[in-house]
Amino acid sequence: MEIIEVSPRDGLQNEAVLLPTKTKVELIGRAVDAGARRIEAVSFVRPDAVPAMADAEAVMARVRRRPDVSYIGLVLNRRGFDRARESAVDEINVVVPVSETFSRRNQNAGAESLMTMAEEVAERAAGIGLPCSITLAVAFGCPFEGEVDPERVVEFSMRAARAGAREVALADTIGVAVPAQVRSTLTALRAEFAGRPGPLLRTHFHNTRNTGYANAIAAVDLGVTRLDASIGGVGGCPFAPQATGNIATEDLVYLLERSGFETGLDLDRLIETARFLGEALGRLVPALLPRAGGFPAPAAGV
Ligand code: ZN
Repeated sequence: MEIIEVSPRDGLQNEAVLLPTKTKVELIGRAVDAGARRIEAVSFVRPDAVPAMADAEAVMARVRRRPDVSYIGLVLNRRGFDRARESAVDEINVVVPVSETFSRRNQNAGAESLMTMAEEVAERAAGIGLPCSITLAVAFGCPFEGEVDPERVVEFSMRAARAGAREVALADTIGVAVPAQVRSTLTALRAEFAGRPGPLLRTHFHNTRNTGYANAIAAVDLGVTRLDASIGGVGGCPFAPQATGNIATEDLVYLLERSGFETGLDLDRLIETARFLGEALGRLVPALLPRAGGFPAPAAGV
């Protein structure tokens, strides 16, 4: 199982507290020490729109580079792509909402034109050998339009694959998905790509309505081996201010490892990092493993 650590980007982007660059770099370093090998570290978006990501260049200049660690920069357009290249990220992730209204409200352009832009960016990235993923936002539900047609998700996935994206991430941006929906969407995608090379599938779940882990397991049962998660479960949902964030890396690692999957992540170090992050943010993180601890517990008291 490959867990893509998204706390430095999706996690912090939705937190009320802005962390200094130094703390972000330490968070990323701790994630690497815990075994994370793909980390969505920064987002190259307009600093006035997303103040939490204003220091993207500074973060990328200070993270420890290692040949076995891939730092991902999130990109929304050509300008972001240029900044990502200048910062020498190891890969990029282009986000495209599948809903028309969400696209217009969130990125000031229709979904169609955003998809066209993502295709262009993916082609450019492929041209210079920069790995590119495309994340389809609000793939399981839109705060403005409600239910999302899985056919739309399938269509955008096809286009992403054709443009050269090696991976498509299905994102439950507002945390409304349930396992049956995850199964039906993934099954529709699989049917579409049957017999021909499709993109690698990745999922991005939020635990906004406590369904994130059930959705992750539903995806794993259908063969998904790439899952986004955030240490501490930090983050939030811009459309549900009181809600929790992404599924937590440590809770997901516990769930997967106890189910017989290897993640390459060290649970104790993840828990320590979640505590570090909670202190930096000045709040109790939503993840449960930092409170409960793993099982079986280390044999100290026996
Ligand atoms: Zn997210």
